[in-house]
Amino acid sequence: MTVRTRIAPSPTGDPHVGTAYVALFNLCFARQHGGQFILRIEDTDQTRSTPESEQDILQALRWLGLEWDEGPDVGGPHGPYRQSERKDSYRQYAMDLVEKGHAFYCFRTPEELEVIREQRKAQGLNPGIKGDLELPAEEVQRRLDAGQPYVIRMKVPDEGTCVINDMLRGTIEIDWAQVDCQILLKSDGMPTYHLANVVDDHAMAITHVLRGEEWINSAPKHKLLYEYFGWDMPELCHLPLLRNPDKSKLSKRKNPTSINFYERMGFLPEAVINYLGRMGWSMPDEREKFSVTEMIENFDVQRVSLGGPIFDVEKLRWLNGLWLREDVSDEEFIERMRSWWFREDALRALVPHLKGRAEVFSDVAPMAAFMFSGMLELSPEQFAHNKLEEGQVKRVLQFALWKLEAQRQWNKDNIFADIKGLAKAMDLKMGEFMFPIFVAIAGTPNSWSVMDSMTTLGPDMTRARLRHALNVLGGFSKKESKRVEKEFAAL
Ligand code: GLU
Repeated sequence: MTVRTRIAPSPTGDPHVGTAYVALFNLCFARQHGGQFILRIEDTDQTRSTPESEQDILQALRWLGLEWDEGPDVGGPHGPYRQSERKDSYRQYAMDLVEKGHAFYCFRTPEELEVIREQRKAQGLNPGIKGDLELPAEEVQRRLDAGQPYVIRMKVPDEGTCVINDMLRGTIEIDWAQVDCQILLKSDGMPTYHLANVVDDHAMAITHVLRGEEWINSAPKHKLLYEYFGWDMPELCHLPLLRNPDKSKLSKRKNPTSINFYERMGFLPEAVINYLGRMGWSMPDEREKFSVTEMIENFDVQRVSLGGPIFDVEKLRWLNGLWLREDVSDEEFIERMRSWWFREDALRALVPHLKGRAEVFSDVAPMAAFMFSGMLELSPEQFAHNKLEEGQVKRVLQFALWKLEAQRQWNKDNIFADIKGLAKAMDLKMGEFMFPIFVAIAGTPNSWSVMDSMTTLGPDMTRARLRHALNVLGGFSKKESKRVEKEFAAL
């Protein structure tokens, strides 16, 4: 048997460090066994998936030095590697299960389901969606003929326990009563994650699935699907989730989670991937600095410890410093810094501003320093403004942050439209609204067009600076947060 593992990102947002972490462990496991590592794009959620996000994810994983043997960009014998291009096969598999009596048509509306849920709750049953939704065959046919919308759900036992074997956790028992009759095919004809994931893991001959522990509860559904189809199930291994230093689940509210941010900050990819390799895993000799090749040579999945690994940017900085000092020659330092610093596109965008303001080249570095920095040194006093109260300043920053977090097409026009719309909705003059943004992004209100700066700095650095500014101002208390969220929703 050839070991085959995969990473299966959904292209619905920024390339997440968690994706790189899981990818790395899958890569190491496959390589250690002389096997293959596959990249598959799970874009069945058509409303949230974008080609830009897919591009970003591939690029970020490549930047980290991860290499896959098969994938949408490199091809391979089991393609296509993008689920939207495999769409037709899923319907057939769902229909097969209906024919075999393992799945059924469901015509219930969300309101009807809510009633069923409440009834089950009142009876002291698990409020999940269970098999009492099935209609007699003639009724199903009548509704199909009438063109009623439907979904296809899998049947799930009401009683008993599902036993899952996990490479790290041993056996995990989950009561069937807790498992929903999962939708397999949605009313738009697209498969859900569960169906597509199982069908593709089988079609792509995946032997081991290493994935985040948030998927444990999906395992019973998958196990049942493998049984229904009569296929062997891959071995499962649920890796511990990355955590913030306060032990909560890693979230962008507390830590930048986009790989792009770390690139933009000027981290070395070797150090970032090394740090991810230390998440829950260690070298037999406990050494902190190692390359992916060294990790592969020494890999043993049983050395993964289940205590939630902490992703701490300060530790990562320290490790990056080690790499810089010990592994980057002076020549390389110059070369790498040059390509980080003098990014052609970024410089080009700056030139008109620099030419407009500088008289001699020595003026350039101080006025452009903020474009080449990480987080700025800021104090609350810098945000004082005679027309804006502190609450308003914080709202401007928070609302701009939320708005720009949702912006998937990063360009000046879109940023401008977001900002202008917010200023109007908050009934503030553009100049007033822009003041805190200037300070957060450029460290001073007296810089050139901050829209240009944000465009060039990119989404990750821009958002991180807005978040940093909010932190400098003390952020919002839990109670305030709720109110501010409501205000934002009402804008
Ligand atoms: N598409 C899923 C994700 O975004 C894949 C989960 C799995 O590995 O099964 O993480």
